[in-house]
Amino acid sequence: MSYVFEPRDVISVPVAGSTERFPVNNIYCVGRNYADHAIEMGFDPDREAPFFFMKPAYAVLSDDAEMKYPAHSSDVHHEVELVVALHHGGTNISVDEAMSLVYAYGVGVDMTRRDLQAEAKEKSRPWEAGKTFLHAAPCAALHKLSEVGQLNEAVITLRINGETRQAGDVNQMIWKVPEIISRLSELFVLQPGDMIYTGTPAGVGPVLPGDQITAHIVGLSELSFKVSSS
Ligand code: MN
Repeated sequence: MSYVFEPRDVISVPVAGSTERFPVNNIYCVGRNYADHAIEMGFDPDREAPFFFMKPAYAVLSDDAEMKYPAHSSDVHHEVELVVALHHGGTNISVDEAMSLVYAYGVGVDMTRRDLQAEAKEKSRPWEAGKTFLHAAPCAALHKLSEVGQLNEAVITLRINGETRQAGDVNQMIWKVPEIISRLSELFVLQPGDMIYTGTPAGVGPVLPGDQITAHIVGLSELSFKVSSS
């Protein structure tokens, strides 16, 4: 058996303290999973539940590489998020068994062309142009669940050029990690290699070429990358 062209190289992220890398499959993201961020975007978290969208694997940026500022936007925003990496998949996974799918946690940033997302919202169109582009999903080295535990509480922060822009705690998530996995598995087919960006606390805002972004969750490797012009 042969293919009509060489399949693309596997996209992967590093695993902390290991020479092994985590191969990335699909990337799921949770929208408005922190009440204070839902409110800053003009929504009432008591009236509307979180929801999902996706990014392609090629959006991943790892190993502290530079992030290219994307085309067709002058308002690219940072959203620091806890990333959940799965080594097992499945459908209709219960909340109780959900954590058995989790391999590791990491720090990620859901980069967003906010101007294109705002236009999509206004016209009731899909979000891809706002959420998908090369380097739209920076991710730090992953830490195995067996080493860091459940991580139900941990301070999550994002700084630009050393100045704090976002600060929260992962315990503020509306849907907790097991609930997110269970709901995703009812809607979609979860697979090994899937990563889940679990939502962002308040304080989102623009990044500019030349900025140094540092994102941190206590207990995990820091994510640090520079934004370069397109
Ligand atoms: Mn987000």
